Amino acid sequence: MKRIALFPGSFDPITKGHESIVLRALPLFDNIIIAIGINEQKKSFFPLGERKAWIEKVFAPYPAVSVVTYEGLTVDLCEKLGAKYILRGLRTSADFEFERSIGQMNKKMFPDVETVFLLTTPEYTAVNSYIVREIIRHGGDASSFIPEGVNLSSGMQPAKE
Ligand code: ADP
Repeated sequence: MKRIALFPGSFDPITKGHESIVLRALPLFDNIIIAIGINEQKKSFFPLGERKAWIEKVFAPYPAVSVVTYEGLTVDLCEKLGAKYILRGLRTSADFEFERSIGQMNKKMFPDVETVFLLTTPEYTAVNSYIVREIIRHGGDASSFIPEGVNLSSGMQPAKE
């Protein structure tokens, strides 16, 4: 039986922190499915198509990694795709508090699924998508926080808030 992990998030945009978690998790799983959640209540900064294309580009050399988009409950997607693991990154104690309740609720709803947490490597603890968006919004250069080959300004306009 294949060990399939789902890595859910908004990836608005993907950062070096996300990239690092996926690369470090690769030896643990046969497949990692990066799942971009579509939240009708929360308008994204970057368009969905761009967010997906950037992730596909970053992980093109890794056939074990794929990308999907989804609406609804993460555990429902796990069940649909046969993923028994949810992968999440932990940066801070605030992340932990948030992840604990989601992880416990998910476990209650879908007992077969285990959430697997990887601690951030110290150099990426401060990297997050929100700060990247703020840098872009104010015309700054966020390239050092973004994976190689991703050009946030290439041929796209951030979606209107
Ligand atoms: P969400 O909106 O669900 O928090 P994100 O796209 O912000 O989605 O993050 C997806 C996952 O990646 C989460 O588990 C988050 O903790 C993790 N993550 C985000 N940034 C980093 C980072 N710098 N280092 C490690 N993990 C990270």
